[in-house]
Amino acid sequence: MIKTFKIAVFDGDGIGPEIMRPTVALLESMASRSSAYSFEFETVPAGAAHYAQHGESLPEASLAIARGADAILLSAMGLPSVRYPDGTEISPQIEIRKALKLYAGVRPVRIAPGQPTPLALKGGQEVDFVLIRESTEGLFHSQGSRDVRDDQAAYETLKITRETSEKLFRFAFALAESRKAAGRGPGKVTCVDKANVFAAFAFFRKIFDEEAARHAGLTSDHAYVDATALWMVEKPWIFDVIVTENMFGDILSDLGAGLMGGLGLAPSADIGDDHAVFQPCHGSAPDIAGQGIANPFAMILSAAMMLDWLGASHGLPEMINDGKRLREAVEAAIADRNTVTRDLGGAASTAEAAAGIAARLV
Ligand code: NAD
Repeated sequence: MIKTFKIAVFDGDGIGPEIMRPTVALLESMASRSSAYSFEFETVPAGAAHYAQHGESLPEASLAIARGADAILLSAMGLPSVRYPDGTEISPQIEIRKALKLYAGVRPVRIAPGQPTPLALKGGQEVDFVLIRESTEGLFHSQGSRDVRDDQAAYETLKITRETSEKLFRFAFALAESRKAAGRGPGKVTCVDKANVFAAFAFFRKIFDEEAARHAGLTSDHAYVDATALWMVEKPWIFDVIVTENMFGDILSDLGAGLMGGLGLAPSADIGDDHAVFQPCHGSAPDIAGQGIANPFAMILSAAMMLDWLGASHGLPEMINDGKRLREAVEAAIADRNTVTRDLGGAASTAEAAAGIAARLV
């Protein structure tokens, strides 16, 4: 029997609708050929342009539809020209993470053979690891509190809780287990912290070690965040699954995107116990919006992560396999260079880049 999944779609701002349209079309086309799954997409409003028109950045009705969906696809939100009265930007993508308790920010760092990278990789050497960024607490805990005293000092609070850390580490070890089973990694989890200086990180590490002790078939180690930044450049192949605090993960995931040749190839998933959002790491790129030249690959790779996650959560191997086919189609397109956009050194439009993927899926 075919399982139908409800997908809430946030088109977002800037290039958002331009990269979402071909992504949904690719998913529809894969589903139309599947005997295991189909989709019902529902586009819901939110974002900076919506705020400018209606005074609301993330309408309660949109959030309700997202809550009721099996998964959420989000392109990018925010426009530098649209701000709240206090000067900060509209960022519903961050509000959604907190509202739906999406504690595991999954950021794959994959450099396939032939993929342009600033690293001097020896012929054929691949990089394939996953960075998990805790996404609901850490140094983002006091976001919005604006504790600036007498224009003399400003304070932020870093919060690490046992409850969230336990879930985060369980998630990290489960991911290492499944990567090992799929032949994609040795089954190793690295806890990245600054436990040499901060008690909060010593606590984070202690909870990590408790979880590690429950996984005899996997290995674990620790690394300080500063050394991790160095090793991600010097020898990124040593990593399998990295798990870290919110702010450290925020910074390291952009380093990971840089290693992959830019934000245009960096997908992500924000996953909680009951919900998951799949979105590219890049923003709404207002400088190129409306020109039809945006790179859709990070959005398409995020959709491939959605297929993986839904397939694994619902026991549908065909869906997991379609996620793999979609990822491989993007990698093949990058390698042959004929259907890549300007940011990757090509000349293809968004539509031509997406058509290149569709052609590889038949
Ligand atoms: P950005 O990622 O939108 O753009 C940075 C540069 O990368 C720009 O030159 C842009 O043209 C280019 N770029 C980004 N994505 C691209 C793509 N798919 N194809 C081709 N080129 C691409 O970052 P920014 O300019 O700092 O931010 C623009 C807006 O996006 C801001 O309002 C910001 O707050 C928002 N933003 C949203 C998210 C999100 O929704 N998750 C993330 C980051 C930034």
